[in-house]
Amino acid sequence: TSFGFEQVGEGEKQTRVDEVFHHVADRYDVMNDLMSGGMHRLWKDAFVAWLNPPQGGRVPFKLLDVAGGTGDISFRVVERSRKNAHCTVFDINGSMLGVGKDRAKENGLISNLEFVEGNAEELPFEDNSFDAYTIAYGIRNVPRIDKALSEAYRVLKRGGRFMCLEFSNVDMPLLDKAYDLFSFNAIPAIGDAVTGDREGYEYFVQSIRKFPNKERFKMMVEDAEFQQVSYRNLSGGITAMHSGWKL
Ligand code: SAM
Repeated sequence: TSFGFEQVGEGEKQTRVDEVFHHVADRYDVMNDLMSGGMHRLWKDAFVAWLNPPQGGRVPFKLLDVAGGTGDISFRVVERSRKNAHCTVFDINGSMLGVGKDRAKENGLISNLEFVEGNAEELPFEDNSFDAYTIAYGIRNVPRIDKALSEAYRVLKRGGRFMCLEFSNVDMPLLDKAYDLFSFNAIPAIGDAVTGDREGYEYFVQSIRKFPNKERFKMMVEDAEFQQVSYRNLSGGITAMHSGWKL
């Protein structure tokens, strides 16, 4: 399959991203394990540990998990909160949500979850309605990041928290070289072998390179009016998590 990512506009870019995720939805979880050597599980654990959803309380903790895909972040939040959290898994792609819904039925977390299809750039939710907003490995795919950030700000309550998990710039000597070798050679090859879509995974590697570095992304989050914005590195910066508050 060829998705042709060369030189495309914003609407077009979204369409291609959608095609890739429709195509891989049922193999998405296996691909994550293969390409990260299982590391994505630890990164997601660290992300949810930093979010630290309350375990119990008068009212449920309301999370909006944007680009939630097959539910990895929401499942962890429900579990870590001892089922005090109510999570809305939100994604532009019905195939990814479908896989997530089936998994939720199997793991008994379905009653704490809701699955909603839509675009991060135009959230179908009211102002001030969530305690937290997460986006894990999703914002890189969104054509207008500033729109997604201002929508995040709008739907959060005062005191609500924005958190983003994303691949980032590696700033450790040697690790950066190894990572380059791995990402430009191994990732497209594994992607090709498992999904038959080399180009989709070449795009994936390029999209990581093009994404703003940690300091720049921090400034973008601040431009969206979030406060106390900070970030943490995971695995030498292969992945980073950003946090900000609507105060
Ligand atoms: N958060 C999940 C995880 O960490 O496993 C899924 C991440 S997956 C790499 C990226 C997801 O972003 C895909 O499910 C894709 O459909 C979704 N996505 C891409 N563009 C989007 C948009 N504009 N609005 C909402 N979701 C989008």
